[in-house]
Amino acid sequence: MSALREGHILLILPVGSSSQSVTFTDQVLEWLRRHRQTRTSQPEAGGQLFAVITGTEIVVSDITGPRTTDKRFRLLYMPDRKLEQQEIDVRFERGLHYVGDWHTHPESKPKPSYQDLQSMRECVTKSRHQLNAFLLVIAGTDDTPRGLHVSLHSDSEIVVLLEGGKSKL
Ligand SMILES: [Zn+2]
Repeated sequence: MSALREGHILLILPVGSSSQSVTFTDQVLEWLRRHRQTRTSQPEAGGQLFAVITGTEIVVSDITGPRTTDKRFRLLYMPDRKLEQQEIDVRFERGLHYVGDWHTHPESKPKPSYQDLQSMRECVTKSRHQLNAFLLVIAGTDDTPRGLHVSLHSDSEIVVLLEGGKSKL
């Protein structure tokens, strides 16, 4: 089932023909909304996504970043790698799995840049994550969830789950 409702912003996305689904809780979506680059002075923000995984359900319920030690520019974001690993370790003990990254773009309906795709490929091959696929969320300047771009990256394919407010599957 695919549900995308504005106002009540819980977002449920099916993953291809599998019975898997990715759900974003209100709290996570609100965090993404709050860090949008809606003013020209705002630098990119980003962080990590954590989920509770039960069977085929991936519920993204925790989000980190931006951190004071990240390097943040208008069109570039470089996270503090050491803190990232600490975030993963601490949450793993609480049953929260690291499933992907998020960052902002200063455009209304964002798309992954060439550099984004490169770094996703790196993440997948280095297996920093605990899933077969790695989740990427880009928050544009449009209101959430319309301004979100959500995609899944594996070593063999990229599946876009949400683009311009529309479920792509
Ligand atoms: Zn990007």
